[in-house]
Amino acid sequence: MTGAIFILSGAGLSAESGLRTFRAADGLWEDHRVEDVATPEAFQRDPKLVQRFYNERRRQAAEAQPNAAHKALAKLQKNHNAPVYLVTQNVDDLLERSGAEQVIHMHGAVKDALCAACAHRWTAPREMQVADPCPSCGQPKTRPDIVWFGEIPYHMDVIQDAIEDSDLFVSIGTSGTVYPAAGFGQMARHLGIKTLELNLEASNAPFDVQREGKASDIVPAWVDEILRG
Ligand code: NAD
Repeated sequence: MTGAIFILSGAGLSAESGLRTFRAADGLWEDHRVEDVATPEAFQRDPKLVQRFYNERRRQAAEAQPNAAHKALAKLQKNHNAPVYLVTQNVDDLLERSGAEQVIHMHGAVKDALCAACAHRWTAPREMQVADPCPSCGQPKTRPDIVWFGEIPYHMDVIQDAIEDSDLFVSIGTSGTVYPAAGFGQMARHLGIKTLELNLEASNAPFDVQREGKASDIVPAWVDEILRG
């Protein structure tokens, strides 16, 4: 019987919902170099372009529908007899919209806005503009609530505790190229926790078991195995 499970998901989980992955091989995300749209420097240099980029990601995420893999993970969190920690690098809310009640968004959420001046957070309008004032402090310092490359991910303490509490570490649809998330599997192995990867193509990282296939096929199959006990 499996105890607590730690699940780290990445863009591959949402790929079959129509949200394109970030292609590490050429460094492009939706035809943009990540340096141009997903760094604090990019936002300083060209805030209009960055807001436009995330306005488009927000629109796509709102129109996308959860796929069978999101739904299976929500079912697992609800029905497993021990904690299931759902930690995602994804900025969409497709796990929540599948019924998952606790999702840890380590890279933020595209549906939210953040004030760079006072750290207030609120639900972003569909279209954020560069001069939007913060509803709390009034300063025009608003940005998408996204952790950009070079910034520190959210909830790292909670994530560390969750890994230590787990019996099984599962990586789903992530290339393992974005740190610190890419180091979580190794942290689990050092703690003697079993590791499993579910991915379209196995990554180069060391896992005890690697299963290849589309998330919508292999995630529900694995969840059924766990829930059968
Ligand atoms: P990545 O794009 O670097 O890697 C995607 C991984 O998904 C690859 O390993 C690929 O083999 C796998 N994959 C592709 N299609 C799949 C499918 N149908 N089933 C199973 N696996 C599939 O993704 P990453 O490791 O998450 O890093 C990307 C970064 O960009 C993250 O920080 C994330 O915040 C951001 N991002 C988010 C979204 C989103 O929120 N949906 C989308 C793109 C990028």
